[in-house]
Amino acid sequence: MKEAAPFERHETIRQQLKALLGEKMWPASALSKVMRLSEKEVYGHLESMKRIGLLAVTPAACGDCGYTFTEREKTKKPSKCPKCKGTYINPPLFALRSK
Ligand SMILES: [Zn+2]
Repeated sequence: MKEAAPFERHETIRQQLKALLGEKMWPASALSKVMRLSEKEVYGHLESMKRIGLLAVTPAACGDCGYTFTEREKTKKPSKCPKCKGTYINPPLFALRSK
């Protein structure tokens, strides 16, 4: 039996991600556990889904002062609040964008 080409593997991951994201909102850390991918890989897929308009993002917010990272370009979780310098950051949540 032939091994799946990397492209096909990539497509499978994308299908699984879409199915998961269609169910509820996820932080990238939970997706990486369920998908058995590194968070870096998860973010890679999320970024490209975002580029083609498939992803709804609830931005990260500061757990201390409530500052919301709306202007942030990157999908990644910020490490520090620019307002109060707090490091307790609620991670961004991702879901499939409803049509
Ligand atoms: Zn803050």
